[in-house]
Amino acid sequence: MTDPAETCIKVICRFRPLNSSEVARGDKFIPKFQGDDCVQIGGKPYYFDRVFQSNTTQVQFYNAVAQKIVSDVLEGYNGTIFAYGQTSSGKTHTMEGKLHDPELMGVIPRIVQDIFNYIYSMDENLEFHIKVSYFEVYLDKIRDLLDVTKTNLSVHEDKNRVPYVKGCTEQFVCSPDEVMQVIEEGKNNRSVAVTNMNEHSSRSHSIFLINIKQENTQTGHKLTGKLYLVDLAGSEKVGKTGAEGAVLEEAKMINKSLSSLGIVISALAEGSSFIPYRDSKMTRILQDSLGGNCRTTMVICCSPSSFNDSETRSTLQFGQRAKTVKNTVCLNVELTAEQWKSKWEKEKEKNKTLKNTVTRLENEINRWRNGESVPVEEQFDKEKAKAEVLALDPPLNNDKTPTKVALGPPPGAPLTDAERQKYEAEMAKLYQQLDDKDEEITQQSQLVETLKEQLLDQGELLTSSRLDHDTLQTELNRLLGENEASKGEVKEVLQALEELAVNYDQKTQEVEDRAKEFEALSEELNEKSSSLASIDSELQKLKEMTNHQKKRVTEMMSSLLKDLAEIGIAVGNNDIKQQESSGLVDEEFTVARLYISKMKSEVKTMVKRSKLLESSQTENAQKMEAMETEAAAYQLRISQHEAKIRSLTDSLQNVEQKKRQLEENVDLLNEEIVQIKTQEKVNATENKIQSANEVKDAVEKQIQFHRESHQRQISSLRDQLDNKEKSITELQDLNQKIMLEQDRLRVEHDKLKAVDQEKSRQLQELMMQQDRQEQARQDLKGLEETVTRELQTLHNLRRLFVQDLISRVKKKGQMDSDKSIAAQKQKICFLEDNLEQLSRAHKQLREDNAKLRGEIPKMEKRLQATAERVRALEAALKEAKENAARDRDRHQQEMERIKDTVKPKNMGRRMSAQIAKPIRPGQLPGGSPALRAKFVSHGQAGGVREGYDSSS
Ligand code: ADP
Ligand code: MG
Repeated sequence: MTDPAETCIKVICRFRPLNSSEVARGDKFIPKFQGDDCVQIGGKPYYFDRVFQSNTTQVQFYNAVAQKIVSDVLEGYNGTIFAYGQTSSGKTHTMEGKLHDPELMGVIPRIVQDIFNYIYSMDENLEFHIKVSYFEVYLDKIRDLLDVTKTNLSVHEDKNRVPYVKGCTEQFVCSPDEVMQVIEEGKNNRSVAVTNMNEHSSRSHSIFLINIKQENTQTGHKLTGKLYLVDLAGSEKVGKTGAEGAVLEEAKMINKSLSSLGIVISALAEGSSFIPYRDSKMTRILQDSLGGNCRTTMVICCSPSSFNDSETRSTLQFGQRAKTVKNTVCLNVELTAEQWKSKWEKEKEKNKTLKNTVTRLENEINRWRNGESVPVEEQFDKEKAKAEVLALDPPLNNDKTPTKVALGPPPGAPLTDAERQKYEAEMAKLYQQLDDKDEEITQQSQLVETLKEQLLDQGELLTSSRLDHDTLQTELNRLLGENEASKGEVKEVLQALEELAVNYDQKTQEVEDRAKEFEALSEELNEKSSSLASIDSELQKLKEMTNHQKKRVTEMMSSLLKDLAEIGIAVGNNDIKQQESSGLVDEEFTVARLYISKMKSEVKTMVKRSKLLESSQTENAQKMEAMETEAAAYQLRISQHEAKIRSLTDSLQNVEQKKRQLEENVDLLNEEIVQIKTQEKVNATENKIQSANEVKDAVEKQIQFHRESHQRQISSLRDQLDNKEKSITELQDLNQKIMLEQDRLRVEHDKLKAVDQEKSRQLQELMMQQDRQEQARQDLKGLEETVTRELQTLHNLRRLFVQDLISRVKKKGQMDSDKSIAAQKQKICFLEDNLEQLSRAHKQLREDNAKLRGEIPKMEKRLQATAERVRALEAALKEAKENAARDRDRHQQEMERIKDTVKPKNMGRRMSAQIAKPIRPGQLPGGSPALRAKFVSHGQAGGVREGYDSSS
C-alpha cells in the first residue's frame, strides 16, 4: 500500500422530479437550485460537491459522478458509491435504474459496461480477475443474494485488517452480460424470499461488490481494487410509516444500521478517536469506505415535494455531515521482495532518527528535572523532528484505528527473528481464535435465529391450531345446529307429506263420489230408456187397438147399413098402410134429427179437441226444443266435468310425484344425518389419535362437503316445499271449483230430471190425445157414412112416397075430400121442411168433414215431427248414457291405477326410511343437484305424459 492521500467523501445531491401522485395531490416543488453545487430548501442553502436537478438524465449523472470511479478501481484504488435517501427518493433509480434500458439504466450497469470497455482498451500484458458478490443487510443480518442458503454471514478481517464478508459467494465473471446475469439472479432471489418486495427493499441495504485483481504478466506487478455499490434502506423516520410492534422493532433494527452509519459519519466528521464501526454489520463491512482506504461517493437522493419537506432537510443535513469525512486513500499494491527490503531499510532509518529524537528528549527532560532551564534554541523542535521523519518516509496509512495499534507488535523494542516468528505465530493463532470465535458467534446466532424462528413457528402453529380448533368447534356447533334445523325441516316435510296424503285421500274420496254419481246417472238413463221403450210398446199396442176398433166400426156400419136396407124394404112393403105408418115415419125423423143434433155437438167437441191438440202440440214442440238445448248444455257440462276430472287426476299425479321426491329427500337427509353422526364419532376418535393438522384437514373437508351438500339439499327441499305449497293451494282452489261445479251440475241434473219427467208426461198426454183424435176421426167418418146412407134411404123413401101419392091421387080422383088433402099438404110441407133442414145439416157436416180432412195431414205431419224428436231425444239419451258409461269405466281404471301406484309407494316409504346408505366423501348423495333436478323434471314430464296416455 503506497501513496497515501487524504480525500474527502464526495457528496452528490440528486433531486428526482415530482411523481404523478404528488402532482395529483398538488404538492409544491420546493428546492431552489443555485449553481451546480447548491440547493435551497425554505431559504436555507445546502452545499455539496454537485447538485443534480430533477431533469438530469441517467447518462448525465453517470458521466459526472461515477465514470471516474471505474478508472480509480482499475488503477488499484478502492471505491464506494452509496445511495442515501428516504424511500422512493430515487436511490434504486440511481443505482440500478432499468437494467436493460440503455437510457434509463443506472450507475451499476453502466459501471459494469465501462469496466469491461476499459479493460479491453488496456495493456494486453495485464491479466484481470473479476469477482462479484451480491448481498443484502436486513435486520443486521447479512444474506447472500447469490446463494439463498447463506442467510446470516459474518464479517471478518483479512490479513491487512480489512473487513470482508466471510463465506459470501464470489462469482467470477468475464463479460458485462455475466455480471448482469448475476445481478438478475440476485434480484430474483431477493424477491422470491420476501412477500412484499417494495416494503422489503425500503428496509434492507443491498450491496453489490465488484472485486478486480490485475497482474502484469511481464513485471509481476499486482493491483487490487474493490468497488462497493450500496443501495441503502430508506432513511425516513419510523413515525411516518406508522410502524407498530414487530414492525417497529424491525424499523429500529433498520434504523440501527442507518443510525450507526450516521454515528460513524459524525464521529469521523468530528475527528473522534473512537469510531464505532462494530456497532452494525453494515458499518463494519463498509469500514474502509468510511474514513478508510477508499474513494467514496455518497449520493444523496431527495424528493422535491413539499410533502417530504422535513425528510429532505434531514437527508441534506446528513449529506453535509458526510461531506466532512476524510478518507486516506492509497494504492492496493502487493509488494515484491525488493520493495519489501527497501521498505525495511527505510523503516530502520526512521527508527534510528526516532531513537535519536527520544534520547534528545530524554536529555532535555532530565535537564528540566534537575532545575536547569533549557534555552529555546536547545529545546526539542517538534516540527523539525517531524520533518526529519517525513523526509525518511511518508507515514503509514490506517494508523488511526486504535485496534490496529493495539494488535501490532510493541513499538520501539527491536525484534529478533525468533521473537518476530513467535509474535507472528501468536498473531496467527489469535486471528485463528478470532475467526473461530466469529464462526462460533455466527453459528450461535444462527442457532438462536433458527430457534427463534422455530419458536415463532411453533407459536404461530399453536395459535393457528387453536384458532382452527375454535373454528372447528364453532363449525361443529353450527353443524349440530344445522343438523337440528334440518331434522326440524325433515319433520315439517313429513308433516307436509302427511297433509298431502290426507289431501290425496280426500281427492280419491271425491273421485269415488264422482264415480258413484256417474253410476247413478247412468242408472237413471237406463231407467229412462226402459221407460221410453215401454212407452213405445204401449204406442204400438194403442195403434193395434185403434186398427182393431176401426175394423169393428166398419163391421158395425155394414150391419147398420143392412139393417137400414131391411128397414127400407119394410117401408116399401108397408106403403098401403101409409095412413097408419105416417106416425111411425115422423118418429123416425125425430130420431134422425136427434141423431144429427147429437152428431153436430159431437163434431163441435171434436173441433175443440183438435184445436186443443194443436196448441198442446206447439207447446210440446217448444218444450222439446228447450229440452234439446238443455241436453246440449248438459253434454257440454259433462265434457267440462270430464276435463276437470282429468286435470284433477293430473294434479293428483303431480302431487304423487312431488311426494315421491320429498320422500327421497327425506331418505337422503336421514342418510346424511346418520353419516354426520358417524363422522362426528369418527372425528372424536380421530382427534385423539391423529395430529391436529390431519384432523383439521379431514374435518374441514368433511365439513365443507357436508355444508355444501346440506345447503344444496336444504335449498332443493325449500324449493320443493314451496312448490308443494303452491300445488296444494292450486289443488285446493281446483277442489273448490270442482265442488262448486259439482253442486251446479247436481242442480242442473235435478232440473233436467224434472224436465225429463215433465216431457215424458207430456208425451203420454200427447199420445192419449192422438189416440182420442184418431178414434174421433174414425167415429166421424162412420157417422158421415151412416148419415149419407140414411139420407139416401130418406131420399128413396121420399121418392117412393111421392110416386105412391101421385098414383093414389090418380086412382081415387074425386073421392078425395078437402080435409084429407089439406092434412096431406100439411104433412108434405112438414116433410119438405124437414128435408130442407136435413140437407142443410148434411151440407154443414160435409163442410166440417172437409175441414177436418184438410187438417188431418197437418196433424199427421206434427205427429211425425214429434215422433222424430222423440227418436232424436232417445238417441241423445243413449249417447249420453254411453258417454257416462265410458267415463265411469275410465275413472274406475284411473282409480285402480292410482291405487296401484300409491300402495307400493307407501310400502316403499315405510321400508326406505330405515335404510342408511353409506356415503363416501367426494360422492354427492343422489348425484349432483343439477342432475337431480333434471331427473325430477324428466320424471314429472313422464308422469304427466303417462297420465295423459292413460286418460286418453
Ligand atoms: P427508492 O429506491 O429510493 O425507494 P426508487 O428509485 O424506486 O426509490 O424511485 C421511486 C420512483 O421514482 C421510481 O418509479 C423511479 O422510476 C422514480 N424516479 C426516481 N428518481 C427519478 C429521476 N431522477 N427521474 C425520473 N424518475 C425517477
Ligand atoms: Mg429502492
